[in-house]
Amino acid sequence: MSSLQYLVNSTTSYNSVGEVFRSLDNPVIGHLNWLERAWASWYIYMNNDILATGLLFFLTHEVMYFGRCLPWLIIDRIAYFQQWKIQPTKLPSDREQWECFKSVIKSHFLVEALPIWLFHPLCASLNISVSVPFPSIKVMAAQIAMFFVLEDQWHYWSHRAFHWGIFYKYIHKQHHRYAAPFGLAAEYAHPVEVMALGFGTVGFPILYAWSAKNWPQYALPDLHLFTLTVWISLRLLQAVDSHSGYEFPWSLHHFLPFWAGADHHDEHHHFFIGNYASSFRWTDYLLQTESGPVAKAYREKMQRQRAERKLNMAAKTK
Ligand SMILES: [Zn+2]
Ligand SMILES: [Zn+2]
Repeated sequence: MSSLQYLVNSTTSYNSVGEVFRSLDNPVIGHLNWLERAWASWYIYMNNDILATGLLFFLTHEVMYFGRCLPWLIIDRIAYFQQWKIQPTKLPSDREQWECFKSVIKSHFLVEALPIWLFHPLCASLNISVSVPFPSIKVMAAQIAMFFVLEDQWHYWSHRAFHWGIFYKYIHKQHHRYAAPFGLAAEYAHPVEVMALGFGTVGFPILYAWSAKNWPQYALPDLHLFTLTVWISLRLLQAVDSHSGYEFPWSLHHFLPFWAGADHHDEHHHFFIGNYASSFRWTDYLLQTESGPVAKAYREKMQRQRAERKLNMAAKTK
């Protein structure tokens, strides 16, 4: 039975989510906005929270991922857009895209389906709420911003480790099959990599919810499943976009200089080294792991200057 059944007469059975949605349009719960009503209708109609959460997450993943890949598939076929292709000589063939699609969909069912179905019991044990109304926009934005920063750090360090010796050879090499990435290739990876990097997306919200539950003295606002759904959707859009292979004059990093975007990750695929972070540029910049000839020339110039300064100092002290 759904935990949101209290919003309606629990003896009523509904034929569609839309029917529940309309039945929620009453003065008693009139304060709910349409998104909250849609959310509640889904849980009430499904009448089983485990199934409702599992299906919701699975569908969000499929719709966001493949839905965001679709415009890139179309753009690849329109000559006008080729002026903004980062590696213009390397357009993925239909066969390559088809092979990639088959592998990604297989991984979605095999690697990711089970954890998604176990998710609701875990959420329930960590007080991750599914009820309505949703938390304030301010709380959701702060939590999502924190997940972006934490995921980016996790991604940087684990991705850097995946470029090391046997980890690269047996695991990460699969993701580097395409030197010029395309949207669909975002999740084309070895199952171990999918799980390890997936921790950055799902693990930190779980740790956050655990902290909010077990350390009440810090008064951390509870995590809502809707916030988690929005976060995962944004993270999927970020992952697909960073593999798009296109750098437009209106790309986000022109307005937010620390945003990584496609141009940052494309260089990683092109040079096989550097630019390990997912969403932001600051860690690669600060730790001097930026990809490409410009960053390499800059690093070498700095090294030369340091060596010259040392020589000058040594000459002065003689
Ligand atoms: Zn890599
Ligand atoms: Zn990649």
